[in-house]
Amino acid sequence: MAGASVKVAVRVRPFNTRETSHDAKCVIQMQGNTTCISNPKQPKDAPKNFTFDYSYWSHTTGEDPNFASQRQVYKDIGEEMLLHAFEGYNVCIFAYGQTGAGKSYTMMGKPEAEQHGIIPQLCEDLFARVSDNQSPDLSYSVEVSYMEIYCERVRDLLSPKSKGNLRVREHPIMGPYVEDLSKLAVTSYHDIADLMDCGNKARTVAATNMNETSSRSHAVFTIVFTQKRHDEMTNLDTEKVRDYWGL
Ligand code: ADP
Ligand code: MG
Repeated sequence: MAGASVKVAVRVRPFNTRETSHDAKCVIQMQGNTTCISNPKQPKDAPKNFTFDYSYWSHTTGEDPNFASQRQVYKDIGEEMLLHAFEGYNVCIFAYGQTGAGKSYTMMGKPEAEQHGIIPQLCEDLFARVSDNQSPDLSYSVEVSYMEIYCERVRDLLSPKSKGNLRVREHPIMGPYVEDLSKLAVTSYHDIADLMDCGNKARTVAATNMNETSSRSHAVFTIVFTQKRHDEMTNLDTEKVRDYWGL
């Protein structure tokens, strides 16, 4: 991909109740953007260091000066994504990790404002910037879709009644897409927040059935952001269309 730039961040979450009750030992340390792993079974071995764009220490709480909050993660990663989207680039964030690692927490977070994940914070900023626009020649539109891949089936989380088996197809120019996936126009952060809530509830059903807090599924949240500029001189409209993907 010409000009594509990739950034990699790792994050360590607090122990869950199971880990605490097993008296688990934390084998990770983080300093700056370096992650350091030690092997308690080989205490003589030197700890191994790995450097990423960001190493987020979220194992403790806000009182710890090294603690990386949801806000911090958004400021580093989300703000840059938003900036590039306004410049007209496609941006994508891919959260990877074992079940229970903290992907949903980092991407979506929890309802309390200070625990919002990257996606809600980014949506809030997106609309703040859109409503700052004073230019009559510039207009924006925002559409979202939210889907889940669960047991090889694609479900539309914004249309939960629709039976879960949408088809993934490939467009010769636009690339892969999901046929019949609903794409809803939104005009405020509130609209997006409502849709995210709805979609997250549609995910949680699977989680409760599995008797787990994590849903063992893959979710893709897409924002199609279109900037339309009208040129007075030529009377032409130009469009920049950008997708963000969340997982
Ligand atoms: P995943 O989506 O990767 O399966 P979750 O995001 O659901 O995992 O995280 C598993 C549990 O750990 C959840 O209860 C979540 O709230 C909690 N958790 C994950 N990351 C953090 C964090 N950085 N701070 C506090 N709690 C976290
Ligand atoms: Mg999850």
